[in-house]
Amino acid sequence: MRRRQLRIALLALPALVGSVLMATAPAGADPADSTAPVGSGRSQLESPDQVRLVRIQLSGADMLDKVVAAGFDLEHGLRRVPTGIEAEAVLTAGQIAELEAMGVEILGDDEGFAWSDEADPVSPARRAQAVQPLSHEATVRIVRADWFTTKGQGFLYVEARTTEGQQTNPIVTMQLENDSGAGTSFGSARTMSRFVDSGQYMFHRNLFKLDARPNQIRVTSSTGGVGTGYVSNWLEDGAPPLTANPAYKWDFVDGYRHPQQLYRRAEEIARQYPDIAEIVYLPNKTNGYQRKAQATIGGTGQAAVVASSAAWGHEGGNDVTVEFVDRPGTNLPLAVEVAGKAVRVLLAKDASGGLASTAAQVATALRTQSQGLIDRAHPYRTNAGTGIVAPTSGPVALTDFLDQKRAGAPEGDVPRGPATIPVLRIGKHRDGRNPGVLIQAQDHAREWVPATTSLEAAERLVHNYKSDWETKKIVDNTDVFLILSNNPDGANYSFYNFASQRRNMTNHCADDNADPARRNSWGVDLNRNYRVGSGHDGYAGGSTSCVSDTYQGPEKLSEPESKNIIWLVEKYRNIKFMMSVHSNGGQLFWQPGAYIADGRITTPRPPLGDEAFYWQSASRILSQVKAHRQTVVTPENVGGSSDVLYSSAGNVREDLYHNYGIYAFGWEVGGSVYNPATGTWQGGSFQPPWVGTPDLVSGHSETMEYANGIMEMFRIAAEWGKDNKKPTSSLVPGGGKYAGPVDVRFETSEPATIYYTTDGSRPTLESPRYQATEFREPGQVFHVTETTTFRWFSVDSAGNIEQNYDPASNDTRNNYRQATITVAAQ
Ligand SMILES: [Zn+2]
Repeated sequence: MRRRQLRIALLALPALVGSVLMATAPAGADPADSTAPVGSGRSQLESPDQVRLVRIQLSGADMLDKVVAAGFDLEHGLRRVPTGIEAEAVLTAGQIAELEAMGVEILGDDEGFAWSDEADPVSPARRAQAVQPLSHEATVRIVRADWFTTKGQGFLYVEARTTEGQQTNPIVTMQLENDSGAGTSFGSARTMSRFVDSGQYMFHRNLFKLDARPNQIRVTSSTGGVGTGYVSNWLEDGAPPLTANPAYKWDFVDGYRHPQQLYRRAEEIARQYPDIAEIVYLPNKTNGYQRKAQATIGGTGQAAVVASSAAWGHEGGNDVTVEFVDRPGTNLPLAVEVAGKAVRVLLAKDASGGLASTAAQVATALRTQSQGLIDRAHPYRTNAGTGIVAPTSGPVALTDFLDQKRAGAPEGDVPRGPATIPVLRIGKHRDGRNPGVLIQAQDHAREWVPATTSLEAAERLVHNYKSDWETKKIVDNTDVFLILSNNPDGANYSFYNFASQRRNMTNHCADDNADPARRNSWGVDLNRNYRVGSGHDGYAGGSTSCVSDTYQGPEKLSEPESKNIIWLVEKYRNIKFMMSVHSNGGQLFWQPGAYIADGRITTPRPPLGDEAFYWQSASRILSQVKAHRQTVVTPENVGGSSDVLYSSAGNVREDLYHNYGIYAFGWEVGGSVYNPATGTWQGGSFQPPWVGTPDLVSGHSETMEYANGIMEMFRIAAEWGKDNKKPTSSLVPGGGKYAGPVDVRFETSEPATIYYTTDGSRPTLESPRYQATEFREPGQVFHVTETTTFRWFSVDSAGNIEQNYDPASNDTRNNYRQATITVAAQ
């Protein structure tokens, strides 16, 4: 667990400072003798009962709420597991009984759920080493300080954290100063913005214009903390793009493409370049660009009847007519006549010749007596249908509304019915030997630029294979899978009918939301339909409402489009990289991408090595984007998506990373671009003009610049597949004799995860993992207070292990790394 290491002889300093360590006894004491009060919200002291650290399992967020409301402090070690939430608590025997009575499960030391890449818990015996609290002055830490330029303007972006950031009375303020280059003094104090999300303090941050690159910054908190840090370059040192080579062919896509065009071109590419390309058809057809034909007739409110055809509109539903007929006479029963596709409802008459059929009665008659033409008929929304239905002025034609084209829709008829989605697979060796890269565009229908961006990348690969050495290396060493539109039904709807459509076309609504006036609100948000961090498990950002734009679906993987993605990554296990391409926003994301709002419990964070690899990849990808026309995706928009944007429960990235170990990126292409004429950032849109005037927000420019980024992702994958260079690492400062306590940390030669021990055992993949101080920060610092030997090894993102150490075997060579910090007795 994340904070477990805190309780061994080494203290991870910053994590300590901000939180009361309920599990840590006073200096020098044996934790077993602790009589400290347990649980922040409990007033009574539980002494002199003995306390112990136990792991507990809660069924979910509801139980967590209940337990916290009862006064138990479960702040530490909380984690979502597939069966609920696990937590740690220091409890007395009486409290354990109390929790058990509430339905909480008490776990043994070895019973907890472990993600495959998580270290096992440290046993209480190993934890019971000397622990010393720190009086710590550094209450401010610099998280990031990035310098970038765009179109002649410099910017400084800073994130800094205070350990007192959660405090609200008074709120801690932070002042940022910068120098004007090496050797100059600090100046220009600015107040930083406090960033709070879901009730949790995240950090303070600022982005501002500067004319000269600072060398250092200083952040001072209102409580007296001071932190200084050096400024790093962001996207300033990128390699020239492939497009800088005059012989390189690019700019293939000359306008937006609807799904039929995208798929036709994909199939054409496979035919034209059979040596390096083929089509893989996804097995689950979509639910279709189709709808039942409908009408709301008979009146308004309680008198309205909603009728839907049994057949899809294009399969005969649109030919059905319904007429409500007022016959002369008295005491006539409700009856239905059917002739061909014409349904006539003969309304009932009462003794005085008045109309007498209610909407509920007419709906029932339509369902049961229309000879199968109408299979769904009901009162309007939540009405009971008690109103008397009025006759129609003639037959009312039911319609699926799909012939009603929106202004500006492309010419041509769209095929109705379920679609088969082709995957364009490009690679010289498509046999699993090379790392696979999945590019998945247009999960969200209205996002048109991701589709053209992905198509442009595909065109560049096949057209340059024979003539460009860099492209040849990509095609020879990767196995690319491109889904140019993963939501063809919704995309057709966006192109032809309703431009703002986000979801697919599946209508999961019950009668209260099934009338045709709701038709633009149906569908499942495909990027909320996956299994990890799902809204079905209490994560935030997915809706249970079938008319919400983030509707998560009736169950996990309910939709064919999401089932297909899982099918693909299970069939092609060489897929190790994935980019879910969206618009618009100018963001690049990875995990965590979802959290439980109460307590802001995220899905498990990637280990430090993965996090570093993500950052390194992001910097390469975004440097290539910038190389086209100076578009900068700012560092505040890069990272775990739930850290920098919001929680999106059940997104595809969480599933592919946690279930399949795929480096799964999410991209929001087409964000704000800096406009030097106005000195402001100008925002993007879902369907910007293909060529803008001026060309700041433009589908064409976005397609070209972000295709650069996709090409770079291919290069990263190709290099990853060839990477057999072992990482090296070191403890800084190194082993040796120290007069007093010393702060140490690990450094690695490349993005790599370190597994270490301090208890004399050989390190394994189950040993504690070296963690970040806090999210978005570098590795933790250990405060070593007594002589300690570190044993460790590092593993890079491609799986190479330092010194060829074999952590799994009983190999007695034991060629892990080790260093002893000898601390002189005080
Ligand atoms: Zn999207």
